[in-house]
Amino acid sequence: MTPQSVTQVDCLINARWVIPVIPHGVVLNNHSLAITGNRIVDLLSTKDARLRYKPKTTFELDSHAIIPGLINAHGHAAMTLFRGMADDRPLMTWLNNHIWPAENRWISDSFVETGTELAIAEMLLSGTTCFSDMYFFPNRAAKAVHRNKMRAQIFVPILDFPSAWASDADNYFHKGLKVSDEFRNHDLINIGFGPHAPYTVCDAALQRVSVLAEELDANIQIHLHETSQEIENAIANSGRRPINRLDEIDFLSPRVQCVHMTQVIDEDIELLQNNGCQVIHCPESNLKLASGFCPTTKLSKAGINVALGTDGAASNNDLDMFAEMQTAALLAKGLTRDATALSAPEALRMATYNGALALGIDDLTGSLEKGKAADIAAINFDHLTHQPTYDPLSQLVYTSCARNVSHVWVNGRLLVEDGELTQIDTEALKQKVQLWRAKICASENQQTLKF
Ligand SMILES: [Zn+2]
Repeated sequence: MTPQSVTQVDCLINARWVIPVIPHGVVLNNHSLAITGNRIVDLLSTKDARLRYKPKTTFELDSHAIIPGLINAHGHAAMTLFRGMADDRPLMTWLNNHIWPAENRWISDSFVETGTELAIAEMLLSGTTCFSDMYFFPNRAAKAVHRNKMRAQIFVPILDFPSAWASDADNYFHKGLKVSDEFRNHDLINIGFGPHAPYTVCDAALQRVSVLAEELDANIQIHLHETSQEIENAIANSGRRPINRLDEIDFLSPRVQCVHMTQVIDEDIELLQNNGCQVIHCPESNLKLASGFCPTTKLSKAGINVALGTDGAASNNDLDMFAEMQTAALLAKGLTRDATALSAPEALRMATYNGALALGIDDLTGSLEKGKAADIAAINFDHLTHQPTYDPLSQLVYTSCARNVSHVWVNGRLLVEDGELTQIDTEALKQKVQLWRAKICASENQQTLKF
């Protein structure tokens, strides 16, 4: 090789294993990623990389696996501030008696900004580079994302009833459109519409969401078929299952991300399939709220894209996508009584590439391929809990990896180095969170809120 063929790059990451996700199930030994600006410019053997590239910075990750940054496809980031406030309750009791009253009392722009920042810190430290958020004050959530240089899909919440953020349906749309305008063309943030659920949003508002999403080329996310009670109430009130109602008003389309889907019959699968809808599976939240089980194997077999999300920290209670992968894999096996169901490569794909597909950003992220954004997580396997490592891909899913995430890049920026956040002042953030805890605990509603 002649000296002329040596190319300058910003960064070379030399890793013991590279797991690109696309192609499916592949583990590359002693490979490297070359990065310039925010893009992956090459993926090749470390031996060749050392000859071909002259990097400004080199990372020698010789006991690490590098993977595409994880994509948390559903959550309510600011609810980290409600973590552990009302555990061990069924969904409707949890919502009606605990979460909604607490939200009415506490949600504000600064609550959302601090809560979202806490979520971002937690997600980055556990290898997540992109998340989806549906919560009040989405403008402030987007600001926290912008400031911390993470990638996100932010959904403007749409509800029929008032909240601290908006007074009525019109007001949600009005404010939502302003947020959408403000962040249009942002390189890391997409704004979409998040009608909360069929039982909290009327037909007119749902139809308006469809029209706006089409006009603005935006995504839609909705909680759908989360519990059997949701189905029973809908049938009692209207004689139809919620998904049939959505179909009748032409709401379903590939831009619709249906979150949960724990109550699924064959006709529902046909509707999801025919309309190209996305499904977001939140196994730990479904288990904790005893909502039911999403039949991921059946959905995937029907060609429906299934991505993974943690849901909010109040019903999980963490934002650890490695734990979510493990739970999804174990749950699918238990549900189907088939140990081959939802294999480790499939679980990792759900948490990466399928998330990117659901969010409509698969041309940009979700796998380690030439030309894609450098959204990368490195996991250090030089830890007793990962010894010995025969199959690093399996290890990623079935041993607890979140605590061993060492490096995270989002869009080429190093946001976690040697397990520490590079941009967020952890102590200052903890202090802000403690102030919220003190405020909530000291409130006159303490008895109601302490549960
Ligand atoms: Zn949710």
